[in-house]
Amino acid sequence: MKPYAFGVDLGGNAIKIGLFQTTGNLVDKWTIPARLEDRGSHLLPDVVDSIRAKMESHSLSWESVEGVGMGVPGPVGQDGTVLRCVNLGWDVLNVPQAVRELEPAIEKLQVANDVNAATLGEMWQGGAQWNNSAVMVTLGVGIGSGIVVDNKVFVGSTGAAGEIGHMCVNPKETERCTCGNYGCLEQYCSDTGLVRSAKQVLEEMPQAASVLREGEITPQAICEAAKKNDPVATEVLDRFGQLMGQALTAVACTVNPQVFVIGGALSQGGMVILKPIETYFRRYAFHAFRNTPFVLAELGDDAGIYGSVRMLFDDVKLDEELELGLEELEL
Ligand SMILES: [Zn+2]
Repeated sequence: MKPYAFGVDLGGNAIKIGLFQTTGNLVDKWTIPARLEDRGSHLLPDVVDSIRAKMESHSLSWESVEGVGMGVPGPVGQDGTVLRCVNLGWDVLNVPQAVRELEPAIEKLQVANDVNAATLGEMWQGGAQWNNSAVMVTLGVGIGSGIVVDNKVFVGSTGAAGEIGHMCVNPKETERCTCGNYGCLEQYCSDTGLVRSAKQVLEEMPQAASVLREGEITPQAICEAAKKNDPVATEVLDRFGQLMGQALTAVACTVNPQVFVIGGALSQGGMVILKPIETYFRRYAFHAFRNTPFVLAELGDDAGIYGSVRMLFDDVKLDEELELGLEELEL
């Protein structure tokens, strides 16, 4: 194994890049803007230029670099082909091939979906170390999850494994989810879902005193209020826990992971977010996986760059099952 590697987290707002020692030590990290114009055609050249400049400043040559791993916010095929990544403006793009044309000296190149990469990152240097199977749930604007079984990233037959945000938890819902369906988990448990739920609970509990009656209702405000035992915020997070517990019980029924990792922006709420999920999971779960541990993600926004590097190691297997008929793909 060569001593250094780069991890890249390609996002629609910014691109995060990390220089790592392959022992797991993050040596340097930085962010460059994501130039989305011209159908995202500047993104990969900008990444390669930025890596070259950083190598020069650290006096590194490609001979000492194991490779470059990348996480992208969209479905990725086995050979690193990204299948219509709307956030980056890409249609179908074979990323390893495109990067090799820019810099033929890169030895190893791996590309995966960003949530899958983050899951590997948490299993390598974060909250889920010493496990070879894990499900990481990211709670933020939407809800996603990464599934790793026996160090193998599981992506499913159409790249949609882990899309738990669109699991139907309330068939009676009358408002539409962004996906077009009704009653999806993320309509209740994403950050906007929590705010929506808070407004509902405030109406249902008119007598309850709550700081959420004043000022803007944000997920942070809900978590802060819950830490002070605010009755409305506590009820909001209790309902959140019921739905998340129910959804993750279904996940455990199929995947039975060694550990659940709770990440994403909402996980910064800490125990007030984790506890209700865990409580209801244990209540609903089948006995054989009732004691599955829950941990908070530890690497924050860096999980993606860590996991991108982790993908370069031989024991990680990226799914070889995903061979999509592109014409069938309706994303
Ligand atoms: Zn949905």
